[in-house]
Amino acid sequence: MQTLILKKNTEQRLYQGHLWIYNNDLDNTQSPAKSFSAGEIVVVHTAQHRPLGLAYVNPRNLLMGRLLTRDVNVVIDTDFFVERITSALNLRERFFSEPFYRLIYSEADRIPGLIVDRYDDVLVAQFNTAGIEALRENILHALIAVLKPKTIILRNDSSSREAEELPKVVETVHGTAPEFLRVLENNTEFLVPALSGQKTGWFYDHRDNRARLNQFVKDKTVLDVFSYMGGWGVQALKHGAKSVLSIDSSEAALTQQIDNAKLNHVADRLQTSTADAFDHLTELSKQRQKFDIIILDPPALIKRRKDFHAGMQAYFHLNKMALTLLNPQGLLVSASCSQHLMPGELASAVQQIAEKAGRPARLIAEGHQGMDHPVHLSIPETQYLKALFVAFSGK
Ligand code: SAH
Repeated sequence: MQTLILKKNTEQRLYQGHLWIYNNDLDNTQSPAKSFSAGEIVVVHTAQHRPLGLAYVNPRNLLMGRLLTRDVNVVIDTDFFVERITSALNLRERFFSEPFYRLIYSEADRIPGLIVDRYDDVLVAQFNTAGIEALRENILHALIAVLKPKTIILRNDSSSREAEELPKVVETVHGTAPEFLRVLENNTEFLVPALSGQKTGWFYDHRDNRARLNQFVKDKTVLDVFSYMGGWGVQALKHGAKSVLSIDSSEAALTQQIDNAKLNHVADRLQTSTADAFDHLTELSKQRQKFDIIILDPPALIKRRKDFHAGMQAYFHLNKMALTLLNPQGLLVSASCSQHLMPGELASAVQQIAEKAGRPARLIAEGHQGMDHPVHLSIPETQYLKALFVAFSGK
């Protein structure tokens, strides 16, 4: 194995439990980035030549390396992943009674670059780095040994693969893919097209936030913006909402949402609109429509730090429009999955909008990503999801 030597004082982050090595952390004279190949496993040394751990690297990415272990004597093989996957599974089994969850959340489960979502006996995985792609056979064998799944689907079409210069492919590598993935969440059943859903098919991360909202929806009119296949809206109907209007730009997602509503016998109270959310909210506002509950769950509007300003404007705009559509005693659920947006920043945006509108806002609850997306306390980047429950009480 080649040795990667760090610059002085860059090891601190790794000693504190972080797993990332950036391109400019390298001692470029002793171990130039270009001497490594994509996906290679290396021994990491501090500037004082103390062995620090094993990492995989990709010189093409600025985030060049991710530590796999602090033990330089470990062999990275199938058994290594059997241990890590078993540990991740044990954590899930402590908190979930049904086999529907994110099984492997990358760095937080100490398998950097790997996502695996579990849909009972179907696993859907994303190999997001060249390093984890190079270990694919070991990982697949380990997943089969630990979980004995019927099917493993690879949704290797994520945008993070671009930074690693990996091709985008969707393939079934074990068993045969069913037409639909079945999800059970908060007493509601969903079907998701197995090979063509967004990301791995389902957004498990909002489960607890949806459960919280389900408590307040009885007899309420609900607007579900960026609704995908009905994660929030169909559950709200199942829990007694009077009506739901769902907006999404994806016609396929809304068609499936209607089928999911039928599956739960609530389709008569669902309306869907295939549209750009920004345009459609403006239109609803012109029509002076009002709702008791509005959910804003957009895709990440700040994908990279340099998009912060433009993304922030979009959050402002969305929340402002939502407020014009909210009944005086309404509830706004304002979510963001942008890792670069801090919870306080989203709250402050909502606060400013509410004050300007003369409608003082009260934060009644603050939700995060669910327990199957644990936050690694040494890696702040593993925390990304926010869901603010903001109540208004009329003038
Ligand atoms: N709320 C969903 C997840 C949302 S993912 C759930 O709980 O499962 C983001 C969704 O926004 C996707 O379904 C995508 O199709 C949709 N989307 C992206 N850009 C959009 C836009 N400009 N207008 C409307 N929908 C959009």
